[in-house]
Amino acid sequence: MKVNAIPVFDQSPPRLTKQDWDTLAKAAWEVRRNAHLYGPTAVGAAVLTASNRVFVGCNVEHRFRSHDVHAEVNAITTMVAQGEKQLRAVMIAAERDRFTPCGACMDWIFQFGSESCEIGWQKEEGGHIEILTAGELMPHYPR
Ligand SMILES: [Zn+2]
Repeated sequence: MKVNAIPVFDQSPPRLTKQDWDTLAKAAWEVRRNAHLYGPTAVGAAVLTASNRVFVGCNVEHRFRSHDVHAEVNAITTMVAQGEKQLRAVMIAAERDRFTPCGACMDWIFQFGSESCEIGWQKEEGGHIEILTAGELMPHYPR
């Protein structure tokens, strides 16, 4: 029996550098200052597109809390409004431990990014940035 070699396709773009993450983190912390809050947590997000453009968003909460717009969605919809539809990375700034995107934000991330979309989060400005891909965060997400 002849066994054919299984081709390996790696179409993932190169991973972001520390400098890339630092740039995104700075933008995320800066836009976080504009958060409109009813709850306790200000959040900033910066997204990097496949064409290397950066868009930012903060959480915009509503007195009817079910209308809250999360920072990630704000950044992603701003990206789309500017004509971009390919997410490469998402950076989140919030003073909370393990502040990964919620399930609804992951729906938005998978809508415009692949499983290799990198997601970083940082709980204090200048601190350690934890990074996982969307596929690592939600390995069983339906595709
Ligand atoms: Zn969310």
